[in-house]
Amino acid sequence: MTMTDPVDGRFGEFGGMYVPETLVPACQELDAAFREAWADPAFRDELDDLQANYTGRPSPLTECRNLGEELGCRVLLKREDLNHTGSHKINNVLGQALLARRMGKTRLVAETGAGQHGVATATAAALFGMECVVYMGAVDIERQKLNVFRMQLLGTEVRSAESGSKTLKDAVNEAMRYWVAAVENTHYCLGSVMGPHPYPWMVREFHRVIGEEARAQCAELLDGGVPDVVTACVGGGSNAIGIFSGFADTSAELVGVEPAGGAAVGRAVPGIVHGSHSYLMQDEWGQVLEAESISAGLDYPGIGPEHSHLAKTGRARYEPVTDEDVVEGFQLLARTEGIIPALESAHVIAWLMNAREELRGKTVLVNLSGRGDKDVAQMMDVLS
Ligand SMILES: *Cc1c(COP(=O)(O)O)cnc(C)c1O
Repeated sequence: MTMTDPVDGRFGEFGGMYVPETLVPACQELDAAFREAWADPAFRDELDDLQANYTGRPSPLTECRNLGEELGCRVLLKREDLNHTGSHKINNVLGQALLARRMGKTRLVAETGAGQHGVATATAAALFGMECVVYMGAVDIERQKLNVFRMQLLGTEVRSAESGSKTLKDAVNEAMRYWVAAVENTHYCLGSVMGPHPYPWMVREFHRVIGEEARAQCAELLDGGVPDVVTACVGGGSNAIGIFSGFADTSAELVGVEPAGGAAVGRAVPGIVHGSHSYLMQDEWGQVLEAESISAGLDYPGIGPEHSHLAKTGRARYEPVTDEDVVEGFQLLARTEGIIPALESAHVIAWLMNAREELRGKTVLVNLSGRGDKDVAQMMDVLS
């Protein structure tokens, strides 16, 4: 199986473009512009150059001998934590900013939960000399003061989303509303493989570099072979789809790890949220439920449509882990390898611990989506 281009915006029964009529032309314009740019070698060269000299790609592949010994399997980390701004998010944001400029847009609007996507977008806006507005739930603004200040330092205007639960899903609603009103000069820089077509596909293409690099790095290390298991944490699912896309056509098992309090696939109810048809957490009336997780970056009640498709067809599976396990995984990687992971990425380490019997003797490739500097203060509270 390979991951193909969704010409009609669909991954099996999932995906689509469920947006207000006023946004249909904007999505269509974006689809056409992305297709054209992605087929243009000059666009690819400029993005590759940025990824090499600004982001710091290729990110290394690190073999974890101590952790491997402790768990009884071979662990390889794809080091997205070493990218500029500290996670995989910059891959997507630089691609979208470059595309926006090519489309003649002068302003970016984005949503953010924990603030990581907001910071990445603000970074790209500063680099390209674009205006930038980031919506963030009022509750998250209070919880993530440091990232709010980072965005402001980068020249971005942070706006508070005051509706609903005042968290990420409300920030997405507000950002979409802003886009409708300002679509002429504004690009909506969406932060994961979700939302209406073309976002789930376009964002995957911008993160495909993770999987392509890792495939080549694994081939070098494993004598042309592939790992037995490829795994990543899943919020909306962008870092996971990035690494999966390098291995979908191999024998490697693909495993996404979700927070138990936000397990959109685990609860497996299909519905429509934020412009696409996918699995999401909802009540009996179809109202979207709040996700709850120790890591604000995974606090999203839905999952990208391509993941729903991969789950339904059995090509990938999705496993939940609890917050307590995540706290243990966070400390385990720090202690054994000298790498403090983002709490999101620590979900995968927690799954390795839980699945130890199943993984014995296997080679496991982990996408380490981000670094933990941002989470150290929170963990100090949790552990004291
Ligand atoms: C935002 C974020 C995630 C979750 O987003 P995905 O789209 O699921 O990848 C995971 N890890 C880190 C470090 C993040 O910042």
